[in-house]
Amino acid sequence: MEPNVSAVQTERALGSGGVRPRERTFVRGKGALLWDESDRRFIDCSAAHGTASLGHAHPALTRAIERQAGRLIAATAAFANDQRSAYMSELSSALPEGFERLFLCNSGTESVEAALKFARLATGRTSVVACVRGFHGRTMGALSATHERRYREPFAPLVPGFTHVPYDRIDKLDAAVTGETAAVVLEPVQGEGGVRPASAEYLQAAERICRERGAMFVADEVQTGFGRTGRMFAVERHGVTPDLLCMAKGIASGFPMGAVALGGRVGEIPAGAHGSTFGGNPLACAAARATLTTLLEQRLPERSEALGTWFRDRLSAIESSRVRAVRGVGLMNAIELKERSRPFLDALEERGVIALAAGPNVMRFLPPLVVLREELEEVLCAVSEVLA
Ligand SMILES: *Cc1c(COP(=O)(O)O)cnc(C)c1O
Repeated sequence: MEPNVSAVQTERALGSGGVRPRERTFVRGKGALLWDESDRRFIDCSAAHGTASLGHAHPALTRAIERQAGRLIAATAAFANDQRSAYMSELSSALPEGFERLFLCNSGTESVEAALKFARLATGRTSVVACVRGFHGRTMGALSATHERRYREPFAPLVPGFTHVPYDRIDKLDAAVTGETAAVVLEPVQGEGGVRPASAEYLQAAERICRERGAMFVADEVQTGFGRTGRMFAVERHGVTPDLLCMAKGIASGFPMGAVALGGRVGEIPAGAHGSTFGGNPLACAAARATLTTLLEQRLPERSEALGTWFRDRLSAIESSRVRAVRGVGLMNAIELKERSRPFLDALEERGVIALAAGPNVMRFLPPLVVLREELEEVLCAVSEVLA
C-alpha cells in the first residue's frame, strides 16, 4: 500500500461501495469518548451503532478478551466449552421468564435468520407478518422481514410469504395473522425506522394473537436488548413473553455476537437442522460474559432508564421550530425534524458529537450505557446550537 494514502481513501477505494466511510478515521476510544487520528475528541452517541454498551475499552471487557485469547479462541459447538456453558447459564438467568433454550450466533441478521427458521420448524408454516418501517437485517430471510425499499428492491425476488403491516396498529395485525402464519416479527421499539416505541397494548395483543392462531411471536431485540431501553430487555416493560427473542448489538459490547432465546412453544429443533461455525466461540462468550456481569453489577439498565429520561426531557425542552417530535425509551432516543437530518448530524460532528440517522428526518442518540451526565450536557449544548 502507498504511504500517504489515508484510511478513508483506502476504504473508499477497496470497500464494496455498499457502505461509504465518512471523512474521518477513529483510532481509539475510552468510555463514551472517541479520538480520531489527529487526536480530536468526540462524544460517541452512536456507540458504534448501538453495540458498545459498556463504552470503549472497558477494562472488564478488555481483561476478559485478553485472558480468553491466551487460553482458547477457536472451539465449535461440536464440543462443550467452559466459557460457552457459563455464558449460557448466565444469559438464561438474565432473560425474562419463559425461555428454555438458546442458539448462539455472530450478528443480528443471523439471529433473525435463525428465528425465522425455528418458527418454520415449530409451525410447519411459511408465512411471516412483519411491520412497516421494521429493520431486521440484510441476509435474504431477515431482509425479507425488513421493510425499507432501498434495501430490498435491488435483491428481489426475496423469500416468499412476507407481508408488512403498519406498526403499532392492533387492527391491522389482527387482520393479517391467519392460520397460515408461521411468525409475527417485530421490534418492541423500532430502531432504524425512527426510534418508535410500540404501546404496551400492541405488544400484548401481538402475543395474544400469535397464541390464538398458533404463530410464533418473534421479538427482535437486537437494538433494544441489554439495557438500552432502561430494562434488560424491552419486552419486560410490558410483561410480554415472545416465543423467540433475537439479540445481538450490545450483547458483547462491540465484540461480534448474536443469540436467539427459544420459548417452550418452539419445541425441539431436530439435530443438524441449524448451526453456526463461529457461533458461541469462547472469545465471544468471554466478551458477552464480561458485558452481562458488568451490566448487572453496575445496574446499567436502571442507569439507562434514569439518565435516558433526564436526557429526553432536556431534548424536549430545546426550543426549535425545526423539531417535529422527541421520542425514546431509556438511552435510545431521537429527535424527528421537519427537514432532513443529515446536515444537522454533520454539524454535530463538527462540534464533536457523533450521532446517527434513523430514516431521512431523524437524529438518533444511542450513547454507551456508561455515558456521563456531563458528556450528555455537552451533547445537549451541541444539539441546541445546531438546531438554533
Ligand atoms: C442492527 C439490527 C439488525 C441487524 O443486525 P446486524 O448485526 O447488522 O446483522 C437486526 N435487527 C435490528 C432490530 C437491528 O437494529
